[in-house]
Amino acid sequence: MTTSIVSETETAPADKNFLPGPVLLLGAPGVGKGTQAKALMAAYGIPQISTGDILRANISNGTDLGKAAKALVDQGTLVSDDLVNQMVADRLKQPDTRRGFILDGFPRTLNQANWLDTHLAADSGDLPVVAISIVVEYEQLLHRITGRRISPAGRIYNVYSNPPAVPGICDVDGSTLVQRPDDSEAVFMERMKTFEAQTAPVIEHYRKRGRFEVVDGDRPVEEVTAGILSALKRLRKDSNQ
Ligand code: AMP
Repeated sequence: MTTSIVSETETAPADKNFLPGPVLLLGAPGVGKGTQAKALMAAYGIPQISTGDILRANISNGTDLGKAAKALVDQGTLVSDDLVNQMVADRLKQPDTRRGFILDGFPRTLNQANWLDTHLAADSGDLPVVAISIVVEYEQLLHRITGRRISPAGRIYNVYSNPPAVPGICDVDGSTLVQRPDDSEAVFMERMKTFEAQTAPVIEHYRKRGRFEVVDGDRPVEEVTAGILSALKRLRKDSNQ
């Protein structure tokens, strides 16, 4: 089992023939799970499944699920396990998950982790889960979260580290960037408490299980991506000879 901080800076060779299987991106709010999931999606051609994105899409479309989740998401509290487990189960039925998928923001409780383990074990075609824990210092996370701006299409900017060319406007489609309601300092502190109490044990669960690596997320985005790609190569050695 490897639990050391990965520090590669080279760009690991990534290709569409590599079989990634189920990949969990774990870590506190603001470590870069969404940004890195998008990079992995591009490298391997497998989908990102972000429970936060699915919930936000439901909230902006005013669905029953969105109405049930809105207050909880805005306050930084977790939505019920049954609700998110069902969302993930529905998404995993889609055929684009066959070669693998990246779970971003799930599982966030031990109940969700146990549900996922059982759900994936029921499908004998699946490779075992590999888990990457991205780690960033608390002060840096606060800075990242309060500086984050997103476009309606889900592109991620940061007013400090990755600003758009024109303030407040998406470089790609010209849409107006917004701050997520839960990216205020007060809600961030709430989300960190939730993370420590409920999600830190999930990281322990996968650390003990093996097929787990820690990646230092306090580096330029491309270096973090290279670290994750190298870690995945090691973790999937047996299924990618
Ligand atoms: P995220 O975009 O991953 O930071 O998630 C934003 C918010 O959505 C969280 O603060 C929770 O309110 C909710 N949420 C996202 N994923 C989960 C999950 N796996 N379990 C429960 N609530 C979740």
